[in-house]
Amino acid sequence: MIKVAVTGAAGRMGGRIITLITEAEGLQVVGAVEMAGHARLGEDAGYVAGCGQLNVAITDSLEQALTEADVLIDFTWPEVTVQNAQVCAKLGKAMVVGTTGLNPEQRSVIDQVAEQTPVVFAPNMSVGVNVCFKILKEMASTLGEDFDVEIVELHHKMKKDSPSGTAVRMGEIVAEALGRDYNQVANYHREGMCGERTQQEIGMQTVRGGDIVGEHTVYFVGMGERIELTHRAMSRDMFARGAVRAAGWLAGKAPGRYDMQQVLGLD
Ligand code: NAD
Repeated sequence: MIKVAVTGAAGRMGGRIITLITEAEGLQVVGAVEMAGHARLGEDAGYVAGCGQLNVAITDSLEQALTEADVLIDFTWPEVTVQNAQVCAKLGKAMVVGTTGLNPEQRSVIDQVAEQTPVVFAPNMSVGVNVCFKILKEMASTLGEDFDVEIVELHHKMKKDSPSGTAVRMGEIVAEALGRDYNQVANYHREGMCGERTQQEIGMQTVRGGDIVGEHTVYFVGMGERIELTHRAMSRDMFARGAVRAAGWLAGKAPGRYDMQQVLGLD
């Protein structure tokens, strides 16, 4: 039995992850964490998640929640994830990181932690998006310089980071396949007399509104034809299911930073 603690236990993803662990074979929720002062502290994590009593009270102490755990699943906020990763390294616990929007310094902390303990770190844990990542590499390298690449993503209005971690990863994959530096060619703004599109740039646009779970389209636009690769998430469950699968996959792994391509065997 793999014992799992979940941070962000009362959050949108945390609740679905707790529920899906209860439905998975061979995994068990042993700890649930929320931020200090949260209204649901002390309540049963299963009750808060809507999957019935688990006899695991939500605590604000990560150390306490990790006492019996083998692995932490963390879908919270970047600054919180970085602190939690350092605690996992100190206690020798494996970690699944789903949080997006980490800056380069915060990503480098995850890299350091992964030298001490196994970490799955992926901006999108769905099978479909990870298959898209794989296909995108081939599309970009096959279509080459003759097709302009633009990426558009849509998310719910509560999302804090922009563009999404998935859109950035898609941009990085395309840039890498075309031999470009993503940070040099990503174009996040077009306004006013901004001039003609440059051949190298990768346009990144975001739409925010309502309760859209998440949609990503990569446009390859040539002269006379256009290809669109679209992924639409219809619920959060495929992200949560991927995170639970990653937690099971991590059992017995050596320290290192892994991604969902490896978890899903797509690498
Ligand atoms: P959310 O705001 O609903 O949940 C975050 C939770 O973290 C909140 O309940 C918050 O109270 C809690 N939290 C804050 N500080 C904490 C602390 N110190 N300890 C424990 N918990 C703490 O957000 P969400 O929609 O669940 O998304 C969370 C993150 O997951 C975001 O970065 C989002 O982009 C990312 N995400 C990733 C994937 C993926 O597949 N990798 C999929 C969906 C969402």
